[in-house]
Amino acid sequence: MASAQNFDTMVSLTELKERKVIVDVDRTCGVCGRKLGAGVAVGVIPNGLVVHHACLPGDASEYHLCPVTGEDFEMQYQAGLMSI
Ligand SMILES: [Zn+2]
Repeated sequence: MASAQNFDTMVSLTELKERKVIVDVDRTCGVCGRKLGAGVAVGVIPNGLVVHHACLPGDASEYHLCPVTGEDFEMQYQAGLMSI
């Protein structure tokens, strides 16, 4: 049982590592509205919002919340409404 769970976790991790977001020159931060720019660290919110890394919540315990809408992704994941 544990190895099946480990396999599922490895598959999920691989899927997460393979996700890509294309940021063109005109894309703006979902929080501050400024252009994201080249070479800037960004955060990708599960709902597709892209923000400057600096615009993410300062407290990592709030990373499950969308910084714009307040949507709680942890609750959705636990309810089975969202996959990783
Ligand atoms: Zn920003």
